[in-house]
Amino acid sequence: MEEDCVIQVENLTKIYHMGTVEVKALAGVSFNITRGEVIAIMGPSGSGKSTLMNILGCLDRPTSGKYILDGQAVERLTGDQLAIIRNRKVGFVFQSFNLLPRASALANVELPLRYGNVKNIRDKARASLEAVGLSERMNHRPSELSGGQQQRVAIARALVNEPSIIMADEPTGNLDTRSGKEIMELLLNLNQQYKTTLIIITHDPTIGAHAERIIRLRDGLLVTEET
Ligand code: ADP
Ligand code: MG
Repeated sequence: MEEDCVIQVENLTKIYHMGTVEVKALAGVSFNITRGEVIAIMGPSGSGKSTLMNILGCLDRPTSGKYILDGQAVERLTGDQLAIIRNRKVGFVFQSFNLLPRASALANVELPLRYGNVKNIRDKARASLEAVGLSERMNHRPSELSGGQQQRVAIARALVNEPSIIMADEPTGNLDTRSGKEIMELLLNLNQQYKTTLIIITHDPTIGAHAERIIRLRDGLLVTEET
């Protein structure tokens, strides 16, 4: 495999069974992603974007096809191994932030570190919140923060394990235009600074325009790729 390839997928399919009906959410997609790249995944609703991200993020397994993440053939891993890989290599950012409502920003960011044998959890979480410009808000709960600030906490949480990849599913979907723009700028800055590969699912063409490459899906198939 090429050394600078962080993701290689070959003929990936995902079939959901709904009673007797088969839904082919992914009908055979192949592509590579280079380390440090910024990729947008675009396509109409139902085209398979979230399904693809769930597989790339090791939250779900494909029905068939090959997936190599950072040199590891994912299909050969057990559930436990998959969970370890996911926690170490991938940081997730979601449209709805997915923060724990009763925990402070700091406690939310500390969470991914609590699964491993990690030292200096508090210092690492603090540094991560500083990196997203939230050092002044560390002890606030999500309800005491704006949408843009909550998404920053989610990004700090995604970053805290120093993942090779950040995957964001419509990260600006619940934000006003200005906060959305700030969040995009932050993600791109972090990509520049840490060379973290950035995969963003979006409907928004202005966000797609920031990407180095767009992977476009339609009916579970890759239709165009632009550079
Ligand atoms: P997108 O994120 O592009 O809107 P999805 O990946 O969520 O698309 O869905 C792709 C297709 O797979 C859709 O037809 C959707 O209804 C179907 N699908 C997604 N998740 C499931 C599931 N858990 N069970 C059954 N069908 C699903
Ligand atoms: Mg989706």
